[in-house]
Amino acid sequence: MPADAGARADEGNAAAASRLAEVRRRIAVAEREAGRPEGSARLIAVSKTFDSDAIRPLIAGGQRVFGENRVQEAKAKWPALRAETPGLTVELIGPLQSNKAAEAVALFDAIHSVDRDKIADALAKEMRKQGRSPRLLVQVNIGEEPQKAGVAPAETAAFVERCRTVYGLTIDGLMCIPPLDEPPGPHFALTAKLARELGLTALSMGMSADFELAIAYGATELRIGSALFGTR
Ligand SMILES: *Cc1c(COP(=O)(O)O)cnc(C)c1O
Repeated sequence: MPADAGARADEGNAAAASRLAEVRRRIAVAEREAGRPEGSARLIAVSKTFDSDAIRPLIAGGQRVFGENRVQEAKAKWPALRAETPGLTVELIGPLQSNKAAEAVALFDAIHSVDRDKIADALAKEMRKQGRSPRLLVQVNIGEEPQKAGVAPAETAAFVERCRTVYGLTIDGLMCIPPLDEPPGPHFALTAKLARELGLTALSMGMSADFELAIAYGATELRIGSALFGTR
């Protein structure tokens, strides 16, 4: 590598390391302020749209859990990164089509976007076939937005029950993306309440703009992209 390219790479590494340290610090502060144990909110670094060269500095900084929102993009990036560094966890946080269920089960350690019977059925079949069991979360369309994926809040209990009884799936928790133009607090509170009522412990909520608030409402998995990688 030419000297100036090497210097640029070092600079990129240092910037990524300092963004990662800052996000970790803010998570620790929010956990403490919420009276929660340190490390109880797990950081998922959302690397969608960023290439492997942008991801490696975070891996070098010790980050091991990553989130992607497209199956094809994840398939292009992660097999090679995983070969370089054992022990990486990659999770699907974006919508899933049933014709991609096989690839998703093969690739991901968790799927946060289970939201209809067709997907539950396809995942159950693939998990049996491949002998793999990614952790599963049900996405709730918490703001009941017509354009957004997810199960309606009023349908969530029945859908989680069908996942268990009809498809034999273990559901770990709920995921939500609050409406962009509304305060997220009430949406986090309602998602947490639904999860509690269903006896689900995992709560995937909180992004770059609102993760501290999500921690206050009990988030156990934070999906953070731009605060770690810069603007997309
Ligand atoms: C992109 C994305 C995120 C991360 O968003 P940032 O605002 O960049 O932190 C979180 N969750 C989902 C589902 C996403 O698609």
